[in-house]
Amino acid sequence: MIFFFWGDADDAAVVFDADEEGASFTIGKSDEGFGNLAGAVNALFEVQGLPFACRYLGQDMGFLPPPHPPKDKLLRRKFAHMLSLQDKVILVTGGSRGIGRAIVETLARAGAIVAFTYRGSVEAAQSLAQAHPERVWPYQADVTDGARAEAIIDELVKKYGRLDGLVNNAGITQDNLLLRLTEAQWDAVLQTNLKGPFLYTKAALKPMLRQRQGSIVNISSIVGITGNPGQANYAAAKAGLIAFTKSLAKEVGSRNIRVNAIAPGFIQTDMTTHLPAEAWQSRIALGRLGQPSEVAHVCAFLLSDLASYITGEVIVVDGGLQ
Ligand code: NAP
Repeated sequence: MIFFFWGDADDAAVVFDADEEGASFTIGKSDEGFGNLAGAVNALFEVQGLPFACRYLGQDMGFLPPPHPPKDKLLRRKFAHMLSLQDKVILVTGGSRGIGRAIVETLARAGAIVAFTYRGSVEAAQSLAQAHPERVWPYQADVTDGARAEAIIDELVKKYGRLDGLVNNAGITQDNLLLRLTEAQWDAVLQTNLKGPFLYTKAALKPMLRQRQGSIVNISSIVGITGNPGQANYAAAKAGLIAFTKSLAKEVGSRNIRVNAIAPGFIQTDMTTHLPAEAWQSRIALGRLGQPSEVAHVCAFLLSDLASYITGEVIVVDGGLQ
């Protein structure tokens, strides 16, 4: 917030402390122009609609309440409310590490109650939950287990009465050139990256359809749009996830449920640690890897009411990858 002073108050030292709710001023040095200064400050704050208390040389000079909240303050509040995820109940798959972990942290900071699944990283999951007591809840669950998906969502709905959001994030890679790609590698990647989102979405849709409200975000990949040698299984799963997103958006839009996908490029996580810098540096306009939080911010936006007219979309977060 910026304050302007005017009047005959060149050598007055003004100390102020202000927030959205009001401001307090201490005029500490000279009484020259104090009347003008206080009048000017008064006029300014009446315009801004903020209450302020004014002290002159430590003496309390009174408190002026605002005449009425101004329009811009109401608009700021409305914007903050739409961006906030306060007390929304959101489930994130694969939240123990990398992008999923950043999503859990971002949503919790935005006020959401976040449940997340993980497969094997018990300690990482516990530390994440402990950092956000009563707000973040871990569930050990393989994303390919449909019965477990239903049980987790039933438990959340019993506890909180609803499910506002689902983020299908859990994913793996098992790369190989096609002639060397085994059936097991194909199945594992398709099961985790594509069947997992199907199972969790199916379970989440039940409460969302009842509520007539919900937002689903699927973490796809740029590779699902462009393809990549050595990743035919992964690219097929991520392209499938995009088609799944677009189809489902059309199926449930009339029930006020939005379904979108994010297609990240190279993001700095365990999944990309083995990549040499030559593999990406010259190809990224911004010249660096993305951070998990940079995907998480887009995810929070898509889950928020600011994205209320966006569905069936794929948002690419790749720093300008060629
Ligand atoms: P990551 O660091 O390897 O983390 C993967 C997360 O998914 C972990 O929390 C892991 O749990 C969980 N997970 C894996 N298999 C699971 C299963 N069967 N059941 C339940 N949870 C499972 O990966 P990331 O880089 O953050 O990737 C997250 C998502 O973004 C994935 O869908 C990935 O395809 C996508 N993506 C990543 C990049 C990138 O550059 N990093 C780019 C594009 C898209 P545990 O810790 O318990 O194993």
